[in-house]
Amino acid sequence: MNADKRRLTTKRCSDICVHLRSSAVAFVLLFVLAAPLFCQQREYKLNPQDRERAIKFSRIKYTMHFVDEIWGLAILLGVLGFGLSARTRSLAESATQRWWVQGLIFAPLLTLLTDLPTLPNEVYLQHLERVYGQSVQGWGAWSWDQAKGEFLSILFGTVFALILFGLIRWSPRRWWIWCWLASLPLIAFLVFITPVVIDPMFHKFTPLNVKHPEVVAAVQKVTRRGGLDIPVDRMFEMDASEDVTSLNAYVTGFGATKRVVVWDTTIARCTLPDLMFTFGHEQGHYVLHHIPKTMAFLAVLLFVALYVGFRGMAWLIEDYGGRWGVRGQSDWAALPVLLLLMSAFGFIGEPVTSAWSRHQEHEADIYGLEVIHGLVPNSQTVAADSFQLLGEVALADPDPPPFIEFWLYDHPSIGERVRFAQSYHPWDEGKSPEFVK
Ligand SMILES: [Zn+2]
Repeated sequence: MNADKRRLTTKRCSDICVHLRSSAVAFVLLFVLAAPLFCQQREYKLNPQDRERAIKFSRIKYTMHFVDEIWGLAILLGVLGFGLSARTRSLAESATQRWWVQGLIFAPLLTLLTDLPTLPNEVYLQHLERVYGQSVQGWGAWSWDQAKGEFLSILFGTVFALILFGLIRWSPRRWWIWCWLASLPLIAFLVFITPVVIDPMFHKFTPLNVKHPEVVAAVQKVTRRGGLDIPVDRMFEMDASEDVTSLNAYVTGFGATKRVVVWDTTIARCTLPDLMFTFGHEQGHYVLHHIPKTMAFLAVLLFVALYVGFRGMAWLIEDYGGRWGVRGQSDWAALPVLLLLMSAFGFIGEPVTSAWSRHQEHEADIYGLEVIHGLVPNSQTVAADSFQLLGEVALADPDPPPFIEFWLYDHPSIGERVRFAQSYHPWDEGKSPEFVK
């Protein structure tokens, strides 16, 4: 949902979640096929006007996603092809002999060179979010958020570039392994500090029990049912309503900073049973260790990406180094070559990360359904209603093309989730629930 620079590392419910599509889909299919035999199914439905808007809005967003990806690759190719990378490197070299001071000049300039051309896309997306009632953020506040995001991008980009080039210079043939090893504690550290350092740069967080003790009381029924003790001081309300209309809640952080965050928009729009289900879903991410699992999954992908980067860089520099003015892997001008390879890898790997995310989201849905069963009347209907509301507010696509779902969807589609909620009832079938016994 709400994509922005804060994506960096945090696994938020919306953009986390990457999954084994086949098992999730098999699950859903099984229930979808069997369910009509037993009960009257309700579908995710929008009124005709909203339906038309939802389809139009999603189709533009899908197109923009691919445009952005390809544009990102084109920018890196352009920076290399027009010799901008080589010129920026020469500028840094003319200023100082020290490689790391050169990096302090080169990396921020490269970040600006590659980020600025994406600004029109960002502006257009924000315009779209406003037109379709998803964003209520003014252009001033939006620009300020962009500026902060760019600052973080320069800061982290420069730190990573210095570590990378230090390792390339130190170990020209094994740097990609060292770089991978060095990135593991760094990623863990970023996930750790994000909720306490980065997130508060963009939003205000209030302990949930300050304004909504009734929500805490409802939520505690859910935590107790799950045999879990999420301390009250780990539950926060986020002031999303200043910026967006969409509903969300997520689990973030790691170790001592792990917490559950509920957007104020969600609290305002949902009934207490809806909130209990939403919270139950988030608790599922928490209990099922989705953050550490995803960190491990991303570490594996990063290992492959760095190896591809190492091999691909050698190959590209040999063939195109002369034309691009890149002298070798340890040349600062080679940084966009590595970024190009890693971006291409990330683009091609999108269906894999989406599938991973969908799988975790589906597990969290199962957990949410199980944990509120017996706590609220008609728990399956409550869950289906929550999804319906989520879809209405977000103008979720009622009929996503299968290719788009496969490639991009980090959650099962709302239609699938509504159907699944109504058809999942192991208790009535004499089966054991999967997660909450
Ligand atoms: Zn989730």
